[in-house]
Amino acid sequence: MSTVSSRVPASSRANRQKTELMSTSAARIVQIALRDDVSLGELAQLASTDPAFALRVLAFVNSPAMGIRRRVEDVRQATNLLGVRGMRTLGLSLMVTSLGPAGAESEMLLANCLRRAIITRELALLTKCKDPDPYFTTGLLLDAGLLASAKKDLERAAYIASAPAMYRVVHERVAGFVPHPELGAEIAGNYGLGPEMVEALAHHHDVAPPQEPLSRVAWVAERCAAVFEGGDIVHHRQVAQEAAAILAVSTEQLDALIGRVPAMVTELASALDRTVGDQFEVDDLQERAHDRLVALNEHYEGLVHTLEDLLEKKEALQQELRAANERLERLASTDELTQVANRRAIDEALRRDLARADRDAKPVSVILIDVDHFKSVNDTWGHQTGDAVLSALGRLLKQMLRASDVAGRWGGEEFLCILPNTDSSGAQVVAERLRTTLPLHTVAGPRGPVQVTASFGIATVRGPGCRNASEGIMRRADSALYQAKEQGRDRVIVSP
Ligand code: GH3
Ligand code: MG
Ligand code: MG
Repeated sequence: MSTVSSRVPASSRANRQKTELMSTSAARIVQIALRDDVSLGELAQLASTDPAFALRVLAFVNSPAMGIRRRVEDVRQATNLLGVRGMRTLGLSLMVTSLGPAGAESEMLLANCLRRAIITRELALLTKCKDPDPYFTTGLLLDAGLLASAKKDLERAAYIASAPAMYRVVHERVAGFVPHPELGAEIAGNYGLGPEMVEALAHHHDVAPPQEPLSRVAWVAERCAAVFEGGDIVHHRQVAQEAAAILAVSTEQLDALIGRVPAMVTELASALDRTVGDQFEVDDLQERAHDRLVALNEHYEGLVHTLEDLLEKKEALQQELRAANERLERLASTDELTQVANRRAIDEALRRDLARADRDAKPVSVILIDVDHFKSVNDTWGHQTGDAVLSALGRLLKQMLRASDVAGRWGGEEFLCILPNTDSSGAQVVAERLRTTLPLHTVAGPRGPVQVTASFGIATVRGPGCRNASEGIMRRADSALYQAKEQGRDRVIVSP
């Protein structure tokens, strides 16, 4: 594709655009109007034989954009008032309005063209220019390049036109379009418009203001139009003020002009039998921009709240998870019946406390407890009562031991207490207290309270090497317990 179009000569490319850009009736008017030897009579003839064109001529003459005070009702009079130049302007206006299907995008593009035409003409009048028509035409065609692009890809052209005016050329380059100043100048050249006009179209997006009067006014007009066309309105207004100052147009004059433009755009569009959508005053635009900002802020605040909610929920969930893990950990290390440490946990506690005693050179004592004649409790009162006895013993151990001590179920009806930092006489005191208290904690059996006793075997280790003494200390505690049973039960024996 690109190789084919690159072989097409530039002039024929522009000719193709010429036919694409114009409706046939508009094309006829423009062609006649642009002829060097055209007479006003000829134009009046054309106007009076084409009723649609006649209506356009009258509407155009009477539109505020033309600045003719008294109302004109007669086509010939209107043609005389417009003159060759005015008829030419009308033809070009019709050309501009004949683009594309009706729709929001076309309306925006058309409004942009009309806005530039009006502003360029008004600026010319403010600079005491005697012949403002060529200014109007130049302004009208500033976006002609974009219109040509719109014929090919309306959506894309509208997207570019919706970018703040200052950045459009950049957008066009990025999108792969020929920038509209370049394309517009080419089209204008092909329509036979004068070199000043072609130059003005080519340079209206230059960084520095051009020297030639028409180009210069068009350059300023582009910046004034930008105030209405998106981006930072306050900034664009500032840019427009600085540009207007080049033409010695004061800020007050510019403000008044900016105030007049929206209504003039709407009126001119309707004179051309087209609509351009709502044309907002700059203050309204600014307010709408402000509203958009407020809405955006609210949206953002909403997001922050949602985020905070989510974080809160996340925190709550994490806390729940922590609690669940703790519960799980407790379950995994607790004996269900007696609620003391289970065998795995008490084993671990023994190794941990022995290692610590080794490091700190402190003693550790263990008390191994075995319920006396427990078999007969089960046999006499039933397993359930036996369970209740074990459960009561578990509660007693938890009540009577220090927080730093650990009680666990060693197996069956045997319990182990680990007493860190406690020598054998200390452990003996604890064991005696447990032994004398246990019978006082009776358990409700099927035929009255059930009382039990227990036997206690104590062993103590201390100092270096005791971290590996877990088997030894348990063997000694077990043999002390065995002796307690041997000697008649319900007693405490300390391993030597
Ligand atoms: P001794 O005074 O010599 O210790 O006599 P004993 O009857 O307590 O000794 P033995 O070891 O012969 O009996 C222990 C009994 O403990 C046997 C077993 O049925 C019972 N037992 C072990 N675990 C449980 C338990 O979880 N619940 C109940 N109800 N009984 C249990
Ligand atoms: Mg036993
Ligand atoms: Mg027993």
